[in-house]
Amino acid sequence: MDKLLAEEAIIIGSLNCDEFAMGSTNENSAYGKVLNALDETRVSGGSSGGSAVAVQAGLCMLSLGSDTGGSVRQPADFCGIIGLKPTYGRISRYGLIAYASSFDQIGIFGNPVADVALALEVMAGADDYDSTASQKEVPAYSSMLKTNKKFRFAYFDQALDHPSLDKEISTAIKKQMEELRQQGHRVDVADFDLMDFVVPAYYVLTTAEAASNLSRYDGVRYGYRTPEPVADLTEFYKKTRSAGFGKEVKRRIMLGTFVLSAGYYDAYFTRAQKVRKLVCNRTDAILKDYDFIIMPASPVTAFKMGEKTKDPIAMYLADIYTVIANLTGCPAVSLPLFQHSNGMPFGLQVMAARFNEVSLLQVADTLMQQKKRV
Ligand code: GLN
Repeated sequence: MDKLLAEEAIIIGSLNCDEFAMGSTNENSAYGKVLNALDETRVSGGSSGGSAVAVQAGLCMLSLGSDTGGSVRQPADFCGIIGLKPTYGRISRYGLIAYASSFDQIGIFGNPVADVALALEVMAGADDYDSTASQKEVPAYSSMLKTNKKFRFAYFDQALDHPSLDKEISTAIKKQMEELRQQGHRVDVADFDLMDFVVPAYYVLTTAEAASNLSRYDGVRYGYRTPEPVADLTEFYKKTRSAGFGKEVKRRIMLGTFVLSAGYYDAYFTRAQKVRKLVCNRTDAILKDYDFIIMPASPVTAFKMGEKTKDPIAMYLADIYTVIANLTGCPAVSLPLFQHSNGMPFGLQVMAARFNEVSLLQVADTLMQQKKRV
């Protein structure tokens, strides 16, 4: 924020999100839910739904959100705008309330790509207050967008033929790949047999980190404090934390505490860490031979309001395409290229190797320019 203000950015407000950034629809917000401006019977996506709709509805030119498992790319996909999650550590996390510290990254919503690139350029870079923020030099992204390069794209059958994927989305992305080939880019299939493990690994690891991060909300130094009389400290914590957190946050704290508990640590937490390592190794190997991996951002277009609230597992499973970039720390962008027959927009997700935002923004710009022309 300081870096933006130093460049005379005009900050006009703060926006709604799911409580502690946990959710995919904005329905977990303590302030009420944000509606999708294209169809108010549908969700904005989440967790940073307010930020997505603010840009979608033209209330501002750019907005920020946090992307721990897709919370920028998925609402951007649901709202028909660009959503960029930079490399883990590219932008400082100072000032961001931690959800899962090894996943969290600030993301940018906007349109066109040049605006998003400029915002990244201003915000990226080292920060004395966040030792995980990278010291790497920040390229002048916004002046490097134009290129005639022929890129190498990889895609996974396991992603594009996944049973949860809407057929129209799959068809549109396959068609887009064909167009890329015709333009002289290389588009090849790559093997990724870990597709069904990414969501479980993400939810084990992030709930574990969340349980630890949120333990500071004890009503003494942080967070809500119960006004009710209590007999002892345990009762004070119980009343404070029971009333201070919403249902989804409590679910995740309990899940995280369980997977970290002595008897289950190896069975869940250690295993999920191993899956994370395998996903990183496989992704890195593919991104040695290819510039990008392409896939959908979400298996479906914006859910109907309330559609998934009764079934948290179904809601979690819809994060299948976005969590890979967070497990690996890779940058990824959701580009609003398509329109579904149900009237809603949907995007193409492009992921690049860590710290290769230059190419990612170049391909984003190229694809968005082409969309403009058709
Ligand atoms: N939908 C994901 C979740 O509920 C993503 C959240 C996020 O990126 N903050 O965890």
